[in-house]
Amino acid sequence: MLRPAAADAVAGVHEGQGRVSDEIDDALGAPAQFPLVHSPTRGRWLIAAVLLSLLIVIGFALTMPFARLSTGRSELLLPAYAAGIFLLELMTAVLLIALFNLRRSPALLLLSSGYLFSALLVPAWVLSFPGVFAPFGIELGLQFTAAIAAARRIGFPLFVLAYALAPRTAPLTLAPGRSIVAAVFLVMACVAFIMVVVFLNRPGLPSLMMDARNVGPLWHMVPAATLVLYGLAIVILLTRHRSQLDIWVALVVFSLTIELLLISYLGGGVRLSVGWWAGRTYGLLAASIVLMVLLVESIHVYGRLAQTVAAERRARRGQMTAVEALSASIAHEINQPLTSMITNANAGLRWLLKDEPRLDRAQAALRHIVEDGHRASSIVTGIRSMFTKGRQERTELEMNALVEAAVQAARSEALQEFIEVRDVFAPHLPTVVGNAAQLGHVMRNLIENAVDSVRSGRGWPRRVIIRTWVGEGDEVRVSVEDNGPGIAPEVADRLFDPFVTTKAGGMGMGLMFCRAVVEAHGGRLWATSEDGGAAFHFSLPSVMFAGHDQG
Ligand code: ADP
Repeated sequence: MLRPAAADAVAGVHEGQGRVSDEIDDALGAPAQFPLVHSPTRGRWLIAAVLLSLLIVIGFALTMPFARLSTGRSELLLPAYAAGIFLLELMTAVLLIALFNLRRSPALLLLSSGYLFSALLVPAWVLSFPGVFAPFGIELGLQFTAAIAAARRIGFPLFVLAYALAPRTAPLTLAPGRSIVAAVFLVMACVAFIMVVVFLNRPGLPSLMMDARNVGPLWHMVPAATLVLYGLAIVILLTRHRSQLDIWVALVVFSLTIELLLISYLGGGVRLSVGWWAGRTYGLLAASIVLMVLLVESIHVYGRLAQTVAAERRARRGQMTAVEALSASIAHEINQPLTSMITNANAGLRWLLKDEPRLDRAQAALRHIVEDGHRASSIVTGIRSMFTKGRQERTELEMNALVEAAVQAARSEALQEFIEVRDVFAPHLPTVVGNAAQLGHVMRNLIENAVDSVRSGRGWPRRVIIRTWVGEGDEVRVSVEDNGPGIAPEVADRLFDPFVTTKAGGMGMGLMFCRAVVEAHGGRLWATSEDGGAAFHFSLPSVMFAGHDQG
């Protein structure tokens, strides 16, 4: 008889027929399943962010002694710098908009609007910068550049604050395409408004600059206000959601803080000093951080997408085999009572048609028919109930908890046979998206097999170890190791085929279904065998940028 795990797995495979898009969504981060929020376990990203912040601090310390030195006529480099910043911020905005289009998170649209806002103010800033485009006759006045700079300085952290405070998964009031058009239009209108107001009020603008290079006392209000906004943004980003993107955005704001400290304080508020240029370099770094992260993530996503499509194809192929195998097993299970019913019916008829009918014998034959009928019916009911059990929604899962439940279920029974079932869990596993019932059955199946194997072997102490850990690309890995006799060589290369078994009462379907389930989840299942036992491992992709909204 099929184990529930196997039937659930088949149910999963059937459900899998309509799941190509779900799998692709999984890889890309579908809106319902992948809110851009909290994933505290992507350790490598965090380490990279911390290292980068350290580098920033070291660079900052090295620059300090030279901050006030002048750099001569270096304003000639400004157009190149401005073009760099403009392109970096614009590309970041475009990628964030593309990401918003996939995940439908209002927070992402706010962040992309911030980048767009900042980028669109750059041309006006550099065009009006004293002495840079003067040969072309562009002279907009000392205060114009400073006013634009002030708007850009204060505007960007306001958008970041809005991003940090915005819900990650709130439903959109407009369709995504319309939301994008509306956001781009609003940002452009806002930038145009600022430029027109500043342009028209040139004569009456506050004296932020004393001359082309030195800021006036009034300017100091701008960095002071900006630093407060930066500080607030960093605190909120790090305490509220802590997704990987939040951490990177916090790093951006941190670089901008260093930029501001160098430009406005250590550089003495003197334009084109060493400190001023060093600050600008941090500005460039800040503008590149989110862009780089998004590019790296896109490459990961495409890699995972390719894997998922391949897994889906394999699952479809496996699905045919699974369906054939299942029909064969059902036919086998039901044929037995049917054959027995026909035999008993014939016997009953014969007893009744005798010259002296033997009613007692005929009654016995009829009783057997009723029993066989009940058996066939319970087989059908059992198969149906197994199928329906697997039809459950996919949700975000903590694999440690799921594995722990399977271990608990197996532990006490195994202990009676002096088999220790031990678990070694990685402390912070990324969450995965999956069907808890199906994956629970996979776990129970693998543990049952391992216990069966240990029982049949002579290894001592008899034990099964279940480990979880984080593999390549942050995938979640689970392994079930035992110290049984290892995988029998005659089945080693057909382990995952249907009806392959070395056990007396085995069906040989368990592993096939386990693999089908794992692959339908975009993962892999494989086995290794050594002298000292066997190990079955599976990996599942972790949720990107995901977790639970704590806001
Ligand atoms: P069944 O348990 O009904 O035999 P499975 O598909 O679960 O079906 O397993 C197929 C075969 O794989 C088993 O009969 C056994 O030979 C081998 N196998 C599975 N797990 C282990 C293990 N932990 N150690 C050694 N062999 C194993």
